[in-house]
Amino acid sequence: MESYHSLKQLRLDLKQEKYSLKSVVEHYLKQIEEQKHLNVFLDVYATEALAKADELQEKLDSGQPLGKLFGLVIGIKDVLVQKGYIVRSSSKILEGFESQFTGTAVQRLIDEDAIIIGAQNCDEFAMGSSNENSAFGPTLNAADNSRVPGGSSGASAVSVQAGLCMASLGSDTGGSVRQPAAFCGVVGIKPTYSRVSRYGLIAFASSFDCIGIFSNNIEDNARILEVIAGHDDYDSTVSREEVPNYADHLQINKKLKIAYLKETLENEALQSEIKEATIAKLDWLKNEGHQVEEVTFPHLEYLLPTYYILTTAEASSNLSRFDGVRYGFRAPEAHNMEIMYKLSRTQGFGEEVKRRIMLGTFVLSASYFDAYYTKAQKVRRIIRDETREMLAKYDFIVLPTTPSTAFPLGANRDNPAEMYLEDVFTVQANVSGVPAISIPNGVDAQNLPIGLQIMTDVFKETELYAFAQYLMKS
Ligand code: GLN
Repeated sequence: MESYHSLKQLRLDLKQEKYSLKSVVEHYLKQIEEQKHLNVFLDVYATEALAKADELQEKLDSGQPLGKLFGLVIGIKDVLVQKGYIVRSSSKILEGFESQFTGTAVQRLIDEDAIIIGAQNCDEFAMGSSNENSAFGPTLNAADNSRVPGGSSGASAVSVQAGLCMASLGSDTGGSVRQPAAFCGVVGIKPTYSRVSRYGLIAFASSFDCIGIFSNNIEDNARILEVIAGHDDYDSTVSREEVPNYADHLQINKKLKIAYLKETLENEALQSEIKEATIAKLDWLKNEGHQVEEVTFPHLEYLLPTYYILTTAEASSNLSRFDGVRYGFRAPEAHNMEIMYKLSRTQGFGEEVKRRIMLGTFVLSASYFDAYYTKAQKVRRIIRDETREMLAKYDFIVLPTTPSTAFPLGANRDNPAEMYLEDVFTVQANVSGVPAISIPNGVDAQNLPIGLQIMTDVFKETELYAFAQYLMKS
């Protein structure tokens, strides 16, 4: 058996009794075992997945109605909680912690007959661009094992790339779904902020965090989003906007207005092959009769400072709950309360997480609050307004997902500022709250995948998927 590239094909095979669902799950478990060196899964739910396969098979055999995601074998990033399961955000500080409840997105997958195969490695608390900031070791890119898969949802991208499952849920605060999707040659979406409930997603920066989806193709991605999106009583920030059946509307039938940002294509850090691949797509669109125009976005240089001031501020507040008392790890040698807090946090958090807590605490401190935090909030508003204005004039903005293809393991490990530059093209969508998707756009001279990113206005995921589908078939 081969790993499946589409849910449609799987369902067809199951209905025609080519395979049993159990043998499909067994196939993925075998793949996971055989590719253990990639370090993708922190936990594999083998027993539960096999039992669920039997249960679902019975449903099929007895002619009962099947869920929208019937049989979909899916992995979840280790920041999404499930009742009775260990979750740790790839951090030592959550050691031994077991969730008391199941998050909304994961529950909706289960309710539509998906099979959760396991919890996937990531950068600690989703902070990073290489999956190297994990307390459980780095994940390797399946295209070249000496390279990173991107981050922070690196393993969730590799799981789809390497055929260890059919899709996965990650989280995207500044690019953590789109950047690894680009590095691994798969599809990755960050929906509109507030489209998907964050209930059960361990918080990094709450006004940016979005659950996102990795898949082999657009249709599966769209189908999963229509299942997990929508109003939720457990998260008051979720939109009540109706959720369309995205996967049933994947046609483009009009001429489009498309913008590309001058500052992205002229960016010094942009790898020449990525530039060429992006221009080639834009040329193709022009030839197809669409209106393609260059637009200038002079605020590009303010994106990263704004993102890193606001997200570290939010993170320093969100992560204050990990104190050695309420969750997981407590330093064994602590002998009074203050020392217990200090030692537990010092030993429990990794370097990058501590760096961000300190940065965030600094920008929120009384003497610097206005100079950094308040100012960054104002800049965020300007960036958001200008991005939305642009998206009122154009249907889509097309840009590279990343400045380079997957870099070697260790290359940016000692240089956090260099690592932060990885996010230069992805954070605009998070700062503005708009949806964005990364799709494969060929490979470079070393055969490493290149990603193409598309942004559109809020709640236009239907159009975004349709356009992405159109470009993937080009
Ligand atoms: N690489 C970015 C960061 O380190 C994005 C992380 C994310 O989206 N979770 O903050």
